[in-house]
Amino acid sequence: MLVDSLGATVEYVDATDVDAVDAAVTGETALVWIETPTNPLLRLCDLAAVGEIATAVDATYVVDNTFATPYFQRPLERGADIVVHSTTKYLNGHSDSMGGAVLTDDHSLADAVKHTQSYVLGGTLGPFDSYLTLRGLRTFPLRMDRHETNAGELARYLDGHLSVAHVNYPGLQHHPQHHLAREQMDGFGGIVSFELDATAAETRAVLEALDVFTLAVSLGGTESLVDHPATMSASYLTDTEREAAGISDSLVRLAVGVEHVDDLLTDLDQALENL
Ligand SMILES: *Cc1c(COP(=O)(O)O)cnc(C)c1O
Repeated sequence: MLVDSLGATVEYVDATDVDAVDAAVTGETALVWIETPTNPLLRLCDLAAVGEIATAVDATYVVDNTFATPYFQRPLERGADIVVHSTTKYLNGHSDSMGGAVLTDDHSLADAVKHTQSYVLGGTLGPFDSYLTLRGLRTFPLRMDRHETNAGELARYLDGHLSVAHVNYPGLQHHPQHHLAREQMDGFGGIVSFELDATAAETRAVLEALDVFTLAVSLGGTESLVDHPATMSASYLTDTEREAAGISDSLVRLAVGVEHVDDLLTDLDQALENL
């Protein structure tokens, strides 16, 4: 439990566990905010089940849909009041503009968000970033299909690799929530994470040996990126927090791009030979 800078009391719960959400939500809860699939372990939250819990206490239900995108998942159809996106990622799709979007099908909520954005906080996107995002959107469905087929192929390849201990991808049959993924998503997205049978230093060496994948934190662009959560995107967590979140030193996250899949497979193959 913590109190944020606006004076709101915030409680973090594992939202992949519907019972944990149910136990945390009370009549005092004003807002329930989830992200699915989660970063970086690609676990799922049950959109409709969490929505029912939020709605029962009249809390506003917000879903960060950045990973799945509207191409693969539409939370408003499953009870969300508000959907948020980092347009920096797949929607713009070219790693050259930063922005965000807040979407709702409730007109009074839309007015309230717009008022806060325009008159209170003033965070509006500049004209050139707006242009880049709209231009990127023209190829959005084409890119998403390619991100997904590439990610699926890489996930299956890694799943069969002797140096790989475990692969996290909702499209794999052995993903613990594969059935939920099939139910609430139209596709499994372009992010894959996996654990190597390796130390932190060996893991880092594999990542540095990659040539087509760039070692960088973002995702959603046409070019493939690789992230080492323990030392990069999740390095702000303490060791204990990281362990509790299931982020080991040998965990790797791929943001699979739209390159030819053979170039990606060949690159992974040569880098993994270092183990
Ligand atoms: C990157 C990201 C954000 C933050 O977006 P920025 O555009 O980088 O500010 C929020 N949520 C998710 C799921 C993200 O991947």
